[in-house]
Amino acid sequence: MVQAPAAGLKATGCFFQRSTGALIRLVGFCNIVSSLVSTDPASGEPVGSVPVATRSSVTQAVESARSAQEAWAGTDVRDRVRVLQRFRRILARDRDELTALLTRENGKPRIESLMADLIPTLETAKHLERLAPRALAPSRFRLRNPLTMERTSSIERAPLGVVGIIAPWNFPLSIPATGALSALVAGNGVVLKPSEHTPLIAQAMVDRLHEAGVPEGLLRVVHGKGPVGAALAQSDVDGMVFTGSVATGQKVAAAANERCIPTLLELGGKDPALVLPGADAAATTRGISWGAFTNAGQACASVERCFVPTAEAADWQARFQVAADALRVGPGLEPDVEMGPVIDDAAVRRIRDHIQDAEKRGAHVIAGGDVLDELGPRFIAPTVIADADPSMTCMREETFGPTLPIMAADGEDAVAAANDCDYGLTASVWGPSKQAEPVAHRMEAGTVTINDCVYTFAAPETPWSGWKRSGNGTSHGPNALDAVTQIRHINRARHGRQSKWHHPYDEGLDDLMGGATGFLHGGGKEARRMLRGLRRR
Ligand code: NDP
Repeated sequence: MVQAPAAGLKATGCFFQRSTGALIRLVGFCNIVSSLVSTDPASGEPVGSVPVATRSSVTQAVESARSAQEAWAGTDVRDRVRVLQRFRRILARDRDELTALLTRENGKPRIESLMADLIPTLETAKHLERLAPRALAPSRFRLRNPLTMERTSSIERAPLGVVGIIAPWNFPLSIPATGALSALVAGNGVVLKPSEHTPLIAQAMVDRLHEAGVPEGLLRVVHGKGPVGAALAQSDVDGMVFTGSVATGQKVAAAANERCIPTLLELGGKDPALVLPGADAAATTRGISWGAFTNAGQACASVERCFVPTAEAADWQARFQVAADALRVGPGLEPDVEMGPVIDDAAVRRIRDHIQDAEKRGAHVIAGGDVLDELGPRFIAPTVIADADPSMTCMREETFGPTLPIMAADGEDAVAAANDCDYGLTASVWGPSKQAEPVAHRMEAGTVTINDCVYTFAAPETPWSGWKRSGNGTSHGPNALDAVTQIRHINRARHGRQSKWHHPYDEGLDDLMGGATGFLHGGGKEARRMLRGLRRR
């Protein structure tokens, strides 16, 4: 599926668009096949290319997934689990090839491609293998009200049908895999739209799922930039799983609302790290620096704001400065590199704007602060911003880059400042357990970690969900299949027996309902009246 870098245009009169992350030839008024070239953010060199989908090929992909879905939903869940098991073996087999490709497309150090993308994908598959047979099995129970007590109900989870998935570039394997594996094991068809920055690793994942036994028509991938994501969101899919920015998430949700289909939204973050008095200096410094600079700060759960006790502020600033200066920055494929480039030139501009705005408003850049020209235009030095305050853009808007703004705040003020944010994806609290535990229960976030940060997306037995503008719905955890299934409730009455509440409405019904109300909810009164009504019906 993956092709060599695209050759030159073969026809005249075509639109031609260039961006740093991707070079795209769009279909114009001539009918040539267009392609999307993926580039290495470290060098700007092309890595490979894929064909670009059109609106009609998105429609065809959805139709194809729909025609294959009924048969797939009819398979035993244990057979689908076996497909996931085979997929894990294939990923483990191909891990060197896949992590190298991921690093070339995304820029992150190779060890992060392994530990933050490939391993979480394997763990997610394993979690779903255990969860799906249990979560999809019908549960049967008796009703409790005496008027309905001879009835039974059962609840089962049915697939939605075809699920559209739009996935970002920052975890370009583990995020699309989480959506696709959940949807597939639940019996859905899938159409995946990967990020235009990382089409090759997404395609490599899809190819391996096909190799593992997922029918080709059932799982389709549509590549592109521009109208492709919107075409999928507006297509005939039965549910959407979107991971990306708030602004695009709102558009996806609006398109889904038009058709009343469910949407799982996993959006941005501005996650706080709250340091308490008595926090261990070495472990906390390493933990928070890692949270700020892993993946060059391009994680939805990156530490983007750090609050430290006022009396200790100078010490913490000095520790974070040393930690940032010590990081080895370079192309992710080089050995020992700890931080790679950011994804594109737009990211560089946004990150620089945030740093400059902070300086203008009185903050001090004590480590990094700009592009490392000797490495290339997308390498930004790990940056520590001291004396930050909430008026600064870097404390309010998602920076999505290697910056760590530090603000001094104590006690209640620190908790209030950490919660004073439109986002609520994750938060971390650092300090002795006894003090950290009560603070953790007051953080406004879908995941709160004590003495660690960021990592729980890689622990798929734990739920992943955002508060406020960070999204809605949950992936991973015990409810991992809720977003890709719908409940079918079946209730059974005995054949030939009329229900007490059916017509005619008469005095007997009045006694029954009035008596039952008093008996069941009025402290056990009016039992006789209820029984009288029961006899008359
Ligand atoms: P974007 O919001 O820029 O999304 C880009 C994708 O959306 C592309 O595939 C694009 O496809 C598609 N798209 C654009 N317009 C529309 C539309 N109107 N309808 C449907 N799809 C559309 O996000 P990024 O991919 O850059 O990801 C970065 C963001 O993701 C950050 O904010 C980060 O915090 C967040 N994120 C959240 C996570 C979480 O778990 N909460 C995890 C990881 C990242 P096309 O161009 O073809 O239309």
